[in-house]
Formats: sequence, structure tokens, C-alpha cells
Amino acid sequence: MSFTFNKEETVTLLKQLVEIPSPSGYTQEIMEFMENILKDLQVVYIRTNKGALIATIKGEDDSKHRLLTAHTDTLGAMVKEVKSSGRLKLTMVGGFNWNAVEGEYCTIHTASGKKIRGTILMHQTTVHVYKNASALPRDEQNIEVRIDEKVTNAEETRALGIEVGDFVSFDPRFEETDTGFIKSRHLDDKASTALLLQLIKTLKESNVALPHTTHFYISNNEEIGYGGNSNIPAQTVEYIAVDMGAIGDGQTSDEYTVSICAKDSSGPYHYELTRQLVSMAQQENIDYKLDIYPYYGSDASAAIRAGFDVKHALFGPGIEASHAYERTHIDSLKNTAELLFAYVNSKICKNRRKPILYLVFFALNPYDK
Ligand SMILES: [Zn+2]
Repeated sequence: MSFTFNKEETVTLLKQLVEIPSPSGYTQEIMEFMENILKDLQVVYIRTNKGALIATIKGEDDSKHRLLTAHTDTLGAMVKEVKSSGRLKLTMVGGFNWNAVEGEYCTIHTASGKKIRGTILMHQTTVHVYKNASALPRDEQNIEVRIDEKVTNAEETRALGIEVGDFVSFDPRFEETDTGFIKSRHLDDKASTALLLQLIKTLKESNVALPHTTHFYISNNEEIGYGGNSNIPAQTVEYIAVDMGAIGDGQTSDEYTVSICAKDSSGPYHYELTRQLVSMAQQENIDYKLDIYPYYGSDASAAIRAGFDVKHALFGPGIEASHAYERTHIDSLKNTAELLFAYVNSKICKNRRKPILYLVFFALNPYDK
């Protein structure tokens, strides 16, 4: 079966995904949205206690499984304090710099389900009053939310239903340019989520049997470090995190290719599996970059840390200005979609050593470990 990348459907789905607020810890709505898509596609899935979804497509070989994961949770914030001025102090959810959201419109999600709009600003924003505003640190002390309600003190803000612990989401400001760029917050990792959903749809519609049973793990706690590290089916041999490629000085990744990660802060990814992905990209004429991400961890490394005996790898679209106002290009989505399709249709990577020979070796050399 050959693969055709459906640009329109992918971009439409991606826009829908980024526009559903889903900071880590507040992902009920987006997971229900995803669940409904899976129901419509009539895919078998489970929902974990942590709220993740694991969809499964049975393959010809049901003894060795593979798993692909992408995460739908995003960066966000929580109300830390209702200030005496009626404005809000925030605490971060996930890792970013405050300057990346300074000036951004936001929504405060109250416990009763009310959505109240606001803007994230430095307390000392106006140049007509604060002379040294540009030099002040962007931190929890100076950053605040100006609420779009007539409030002048903490009591009036509380009367709106706003309290400490309410989630705050940032506007994504999605835009698709006619030059093929997609600009939006939360492309990490909703771009990959959209690609995985599109892949499931393609596979269901084509009805072609995959070589191995394949799981699609939509995780919802990656930005806080423990997204896809539980409920991994016991037969899983290969575990792929589909997540953003990091672009910047000294990086090979860009906005046009699929980025395959050889190593990140957690250490090297499984060498043979990573090489297999590279050869697959070469054989299929998929534009790729092999890269190392200096300050990065993925759900695949979280799974390894949690003790799962799997071969792990990481690839995904290149995302410019990650954890800020992000951008990628449709070419990167296309190349990633092509590698995903080639991968799920391939045979599982062979062990370096033949298992039987390996056992004989150990039997003869019991102390040589
Ligand atoms: Zn991510």
C-alpha cells in the first residue's frame, strides 16, 4: 500500500487540537475529543487511570508489539495567588520562560467551569509610568494576569469564582500561511498527535494488515515528565516517541524535514532502532535530519526510566522556537507522516545477537556477564 499525505485533513485536525486548552493536569476535554475520534474510527482503545488513551491495531504478528506515542498536554499555568489588586500571580505548568508568554491572551478555567479571559503582562508594563520596565526580570513576582472583568481587589476577583489552583491556558494563535508555515503555540506535541490520528485513520480505512500489533499511546502528562511510562503492553518490543525536533544553533533539525534523535539529555536512544529509522528514511526518499537535543527528554526516555524493557527511539517534526510561539512547515509534517507510515509497515528490528546463540554463550560462560 502506498501512502498519500492528506495536507488539508492534517492541518484542520491540528488546528482543532491546538484550540482545545490542555495544560498538563487539565486534559479532560482534549482526551474526550480524541476518544470520540477513536470511537468514530472504530478502533479498540483503553483509557488509563492517568487519563491517557491507548488505541490498538492488531497485526499479523501478535507476539511482538510496537508502540508509538505523542502527547496532547501542553504548557500552561495555574493561579498561584489572587493579588490585593485583583490581578493574579501565576505558577508555571511545564518548563518555559515567562517572556515566551508575556503579552499573551489567556483563559482562566474556574472550578465551576466558567472561562474568564485575561492577558499575561509584566506588572510594570506601561512605559508611561515605569521607567525601568524593560530591565526588570520576567518572573513569578513581576508577571501577572490582568483579568478582563471590572475588578479592583481580591474579593471582587474571588466573587467571579477564581481561586488558587485554577488552570490558565494560553491562546494558541494558530495561523497557516500560504507559504506552507504553521504558526501556533502547542505544536509540541499536537503536531505529532494529529499525525498519529491521521495514521490510525489511514490504516483503518485501508484495512491492510500491519506486520505487528501496533499501539498508539496518546499521553497527557509529558510536559511534567511522566506521560507515557505506564500501561505499556507486555509484548511491546519497540517504543517510539513521536515528538518535536529541536531547532537552534548547532542543531541539524529544521522546519522542513523529519528529525530523528540519536541522543538527548536522557542519553542515547536505542542505536539499532535509530539506525533502522535512518535507513528507512533513505530507502523511502524521506527528507530527514539526525540530531542531538541538548535539553530534552521524551515519553520514550520516561518509559525506559520507569523500567520498561523496550527499544526506544524518538522522531518528529522540527519545531522552531519550541515552548514559545512555535512554527513548523507542512514539509516537516509530510516527511514525519511518511516515516511513520513506513515504520508501522516494517518488520521489528532484529536483535544484535541471535537469542539461541546468546543462550548457549551464557551457558558456556556463566561468569562472563
Ligand atoms: Zn513535546
